[in-house]
Amino acid sequence: MNFITEGELYQNVLKTVAHAGNLININENALERLKYPRRAITVSVTLKGDDNKIRTYTGYRVQHNQTLGPFKGGLRFHQDVNISEVAALSALMTFKNSLLNLPLGGAKGGICIDPKTLSPGEMQRLTRSFTSEIGPFIGPDKDIPAPDVGTDSQTMAWMLDTYSSEFGFAQTGVVTGKPVEIGGSHGRDSATGLGVIFICEKALATKNKKMDEATIAIQGFGKVGMHAAIEAYKLNAKVVAVSDVSGGLYNEKGINIEELVKYTSENGGLIKGFTGCDSISNDDLLALDVDILAPCALDHAINSGNMETVRADIIVEGANGPVTSNATKYLHDKGVMIVPDILANGGGVVVSYFEWVQDIVWLFWSAEEVREKLKTIMYRSFDTVWEFSQDQNQDMRSSAMAVALKRLEKAMTLRGLAW
Ligand code: NAD
Repeated sequence: MNFITEGELYQNVLKTVAHAGNLININENALERLKYPRRAITVSVTLKGDDNKIRTYTGYRVQHNQTLGPFKGGLRFHQDVNISEVAALSALMTFKNSLLNLPLGGAKGGICIDPKTLSPGEMQRLTRSFTSEIGPFIGPDKDIPAPDVGTDSQTMAWMLDTYSSEFGFAQTGVVTGKPVEIGGSHGRDSATGLGVIFICEKALATKNKKMDEATIAIQGFGKVGMHAAIEAYKLNAKVVAVSDVSGGLYNEKGINIEELVKYTSENGGLIKGFTGCDSISNDDLLALDVDILAPCALDHAINSGNMETVRADIIVEGANGPVTSNATKYLHDKGVMIVPDILANGGGVVVSYFEWVQDIVWLFWSAEEVREKLKTIMYRSFDTVWEFSQDQNQDMRSSAMAVALKRLEKAMTLRGLAW
């Protein structure tokens, strides 16, 4: 153990890995390599503020594993960012990319700063300063950052521009999640939510149900939750409840999501005040008797305190870590299927991978092509995890990790890294 791996999240990842590793009797040399990040870079990010004073922040890029391909993972600008959390998230990217069978390794990065305190000009200067510092370690063939909490397509556009200035020509493949106008992919914005719904379809099918016969409650109406709701509505599922930071809405006949999206776009992005629905607390939403509960907002939303109230048949983790390990065990034993985050919210990184591929070949796909290719990968990934869980009588979380480890172990063996 060292200061990078000692954080709670990293230790939890190691526990999940150890358990899943046991299930597949993993080669111990491969396991040892997966326990630590390959490289953890700490940089000083200087920012000349609007007040002309230089301020210095700490930034990180942790590159966990590159057995399957170049490092890949998001950049988070948030006041709670620390190296151990970034390292844990980088390891989860290694496992997510392996599970989805993408030719990519795992990385994550961030700056410990509250971006809400910055003007747009300061945000741009901070991003450019950080990109210069990590520049030698990233690149289309080395490590490809993407947006995460506190960063967006604009942040990626500034990164692309700063990185490219070293070369004298555009290096579009250095980041994903860019605007479409400068090499981004169609369908990236809706990819995670859409992937959540592809997974819902597959999970329902194991219970011989279709989306148009299902009820669904969604916590969170942001990038993930809103697009999941839009897609579920299109497929004629009954979206009976949604919530965001401003409150919750309930309608047993199903909420008109098209109208709600229009309403939120005219009301600061929040659902509060939308008419034709009852209001519902977040606790009550999580306790609804629905076919599918999709927590798409917060980590630890379902925990030891409220797990006994859950009545959904299936939980699809749109957010990262919304069901704690205690709650996972309790609900799995009760017969609830929990589709884990590394599978359920993998749609975002799949379309990021598509974006990187399109940038390399300079040939861009239509939204429909992206959607069909995403569906193929999400369906196939679900099937692989489901089959493992049935064969081995394991929950879906352990099964997803076991499938991810198996691929990594095989690749490491072939590369001579597990001997
Ligand atoms: P977001 O900021 O766009 O949306 C978050 C939503 O949660 C907002 O609607 C917000 O109002 C709501 N929310 C906040 N506090 C709440 C509360 N107490 N109760 C109910 N709702 C609350 O974020 P996002 O990108 O949609 O990410 C959501 C989760 O999904 C995070 O865990 C993120 O790490 C994960 N995730 C996102 C992506 C992606 O592509 N955006 C990919 C993988 C995982």
